[in-house]
Amino acid sequence: MSENINPFFEPYGTPHDAVPFDRIRLEHFEEAFMEGIRRDNEQIEKTINNPEKPTFENTIINTEEDEGYYDLLSRVSTVFFNLLSAETNDEMDALAQKMQPILTQHSNDIRLNPRLFERIRYVHLHHRKLTAEEKMLLDNCYEGFVRSGALLDEVGKERLRQLTEEASMLSLQFSQNLLKEQKAFTLDITDEAQLDGLPETAREAAALAWKEANSTANSKPGWRFTLDYPSFSPFMTYSTQRELRKQLYMARNTICTHDNAENNLEICKRLINLRREIAQLLGYKTYADYVLKRRMASNTRSVYRLLNDLIDAYKPTAVKERDELKALFKKLEARGEKLENSSSTKKSLTSHPSPLTPKLMPWDSGFYSHKLQMKKYNIDAEMLRPYFELKNVINGVFGLANKLYGITFKENKDIPVYHPDVKAYEVFDKDGSFLAVFYADFHPRKGKQGGAWMTEYQGQYIDRKGENVRPHVSVVMNLTKPTEDKPALLTLGEVETFLHEFGHSLHGMFANTRFESLSGTNVWWDFVELPSQFMENFAIEKDFLRTFAFHYQTGEPLPDELINRIVKSRNFMAATACLRQVSFGLLDMAYYTKKDEFKDDIIPFEKKAWKKAILGEQLPDTCMTVQFSHIMAGGYAAGYYSYKWAEVLDADAFAVFKKHGIFNQEIAQRFRDCILSKGGTEHPMTLYKNFKGSEPTIDALLKRNGIAKGKKVKR
Ligand SMILES: [Zn+2]
Repeated sequence: MSENINPFFEPYGTPHDAVPFDRIRLEHFEEAFMEGIRRDNEQIEKTINNPEKPTFENTIINTEEDEGYYDLLSRVSTVFFNLLSAETNDEMDALAQKMQPILTQHSNDIRLNPRLFERIRYVHLHHRKLTAEEKMLLDNCYEGFVRSGALLDEVGKERLRQLTEEASMLSLQFSQNLLKEQKAFTLDITDEAQLDGLPETAREAAALAWKEANSTANSKPGWRFTLDYPSFSPFMTYSTQRELRKQLYMARNTICTHDNAENNLEICKRLINLRREIAQLLGYKTYADYVLKRRMASNTRSVYRLLNDLIDAYKPTAVKERDELKALFKKLEARGEKLENSSSTKKSLTSHPSPLTPKLMPWDSGFYSHKLQMKKYNIDAEMLRPYFELKNVINGVFGLANKLYGITFKENKDIPVYHPDVKAYEVFDKDGSFLAVFYADFHPRKGKQGGAWMTEYQGQYIDRKGENVRPHVSVVMNLTKPTEDKPALLTLGEVETFLHEFGHSLHGMFANTRFESLSGTNVWWDFVELPSQFMENFAIEKDFLRTFAFHYQTGEPLPDELINRIVKSRNFMAATACLRQVSFGLLDMAYYTKKDEFKDDIIPFEKKAWKKAILGEQLPDTCMTVQFSHIMAGGYAAGYYSYKWAEVLDADAFAVFKKHGIFNQEIAQRFRDCILSKGGTEHPMTLYKNFKGSEPTIDALLKRNGIAKGKKVKR
């Protein structure tokens, strides 16, 4: 291989044909993108000019994969966009800006190619008997075109284009308004007494924010709090200053409703109507019908059934949780009044005591919840770190995969990596055969996005010669870094994150399907979090913790007493949290199940839409919709229920393991055979029923949360 050849244009020549990160230069990307697009177009021309009758092979498979050589465009896109998240720089960002419109144009050109669609439609109507997997590929292909408007006449296509463009423009404006309003508000404090209750880290961050804003030499010391989560959240949790909590809370919850250019109320209305129109143009009654057709839930009925069942089950417990909170509130408020007389900062609250008993308000919930949690469990994330040294956690997680599935991990330094911190492993199946390449990228650094995710550099598929091309998966996280005198010590939350992403990667590594677009994690939206959330269940299992949770200095195992407290504190305020998620799900569904033009006023509509999942008082001026990015600007419109849906699935599946032993290899094999290896080759409900023998129920989730199965209540 000569140095000046673009590595994307030839076999990589690395172990397992892994991406040769060491040889890829910035200039290789653009050249490969453009050549990839050219080859794609050539392939499509060949397909549509084929004089033979359209068949599954000569049309659908040819659209799925390239003939004779690598699918260059997907090869280069995968590497480029993965690096753009994990290891980027200004040049990469600039290239992304340049390529994005070209790639969008390219994919539109394919989706709106009428001659290509005619062939696909012909196959869809006249195909021979297909396997379930082939049928799924055909349906996906056909539906993909139809949902992009391929069946519409020219007027319809033009209308769809207009609606889609307006919706994407308004989503962008929605987000920009939200960001602007969020940044515009500040709570500035110059009286140190008003910082009462706040931890040192929150004070330091606020002092820094103040300094950045007041850089003149003679400015006095102060503290600035904002609506950004890292500033807002500690203030609401720890500040003893009720009036200030109220101020901050009201600012946060009336955002984008004010009489200014950043008001989102009309934008939301328009977005709801645009999406309804798009769905109706494509032949659906509502936007939810359009979305749910390609979801495990299938229809609005099953989404509402889930949401209503959860309300029935959790509401009684949520009421109890609220009563407990109220009791503590009353007790501490009563005591607080005596204390407050000596504090100058609280005079306004106490010098004219209200004749009414104070009420627990939304700005009190975070503060008193934290107090209650400390009182009941006295547990703190920092206490566990010494038992979760990263090195041990890695052994624990790999060991778990070995116990369940018999697979083994072996680091291979000959596999190129994109940063020296990244580790590359070869993964072997229980019979010793090669299963996958597994990359792990653990710690934050410049050029890497926040959060955690799993991705693939190579998806699994079976090539035309019948060879099973094995996947190259990667987990990218931002876990606590080692310091000069300490190794990387994780919190329990970070251990869960690792297990979560590792669960996604097992879905990728066990993939065993014919087509890459149906392989591994290429499943419907509300099914994709099952393998990941399933793995999180292990985090609080004693038998699992015992395999790796040893004190990094003394080697002592994590004490049982501590584990018990962790387990107990798990369900603290669980019913309240559940109802909150359900209320968002109800709101989302209320907007996107509209059949007619949405003309209501957003604020009163919202209060009514989620009423049955709300326990406290609803304040007349606050509004969630105008800041609900998930369903207005993100991809969760008519999909917010998915969070709860996935939780039901993971609890239900884990209960099967609990029943037969959490390390039971037979059950694990069935989970692998029925779900992890199947990707999106069949309807997720079919896959799930093959594993469990029946449809999932919410019972296991209720049990996990310590909720008694509720009686049917009248709604
Ligand atoms: Zn996930």
